[in-house]
Amino acid sequence: MLKIIDTHTHFDVPEFDIDRAEQCTLAYDNGIRHLILIGFLAKLFNQMVNCQNQIQKFIANKQKSPTAHLAFGLHPFYITQHTDNDLILLENFIKNHKSVAIGEIGLDTFTDEMKTAKNYAKQQDFFIKQLDLAKNYNLPALLHIRKAHGDTLKILKNQKFNNGGIAHSFSGGIQEAKAFVNLGFKIGITGQVTNPNAKKLRNTIVELVKTVGLESLVIETDCPDFTPVCCHESHGRRNTPANLIFVLDELAVLLNVEKAKLAEQLWQNSLSVLDLDV
Ligand SMILES: [Zn+2]
Repeated sequence: MLKIIDTHTHFDVPEFDIDRAEQCTLAYDNGIRHLILIGFLAKLFNQMVNCQNQIQKFIANKQKSPTAHLAFGLHPFYITQHTDNDLILLENFIKNHKSVAIGEIGLDTFTDEMKTAKNYAKQQDFFIKQLDLAKNYNLPALLHIRKAHGDTLKILKNQKFNNGGIAHSFSGGIQEAKAFVNLGFKIGITGQVTNPNAKKLRNTIVELVKTVGLESLVIETDCPDFTPVCCHESHGRRNTPANLIFVLDELAVLLNVEKAKLAEQLWQNSLSVLDLDV
């Protein structure tokens, strides 16, 4: 039986409160053995811990379910909401709960609001402070980057960040992908790869694997976002961890690699970059 790891989810959000148990079973039946709950706002860190506890109870009750892991972080897109106190909260959560990484952190200049000098400076400040935390606690970083790949690479180099991690839901080009891989990062692939119109992404993945190898990739759903194209009609726009199988399927076709072999390599890649107890 094939085993896969969903390296980026927001499975703790209320959209899943109605059917989290069923979704866990569906995910397990599709091969998902681990999933990471990723932080974005300090006020929701407790919600992540509660979700992990709920999933641990499913497993204790012999229900089929992936194991849930935690990664706390302050997301750059919500920069106007973060306070200095949130950084203290973040450190407390890292100290008091097993955190497999810091994330999601990074830079996002997708909207005009995020591009203002004030907001962008604050994003950079919070990114650097969270990289320092990652260094202090010897954790990898889960990066969220939109239209800011060059600056993100510059900061990682200036900060001499060597813990690696994942460039999640990657949207850059091939040169940028290679630069992240050279810094010890894996490239996170979502259900966007199932969209035939996502030509830049699909070409980047093919080129990256050709030049750097399959070792450079991990897969993720980023649920409830980025539903694979094939699932839109059958079960709506809410993405779920179970849909990770469609990312694997598409990647196997795109790269012309046997699915079992690809799954095994992605499993190893995820374990090599995240501090998971498996
Ligand atoms: Zn995310």
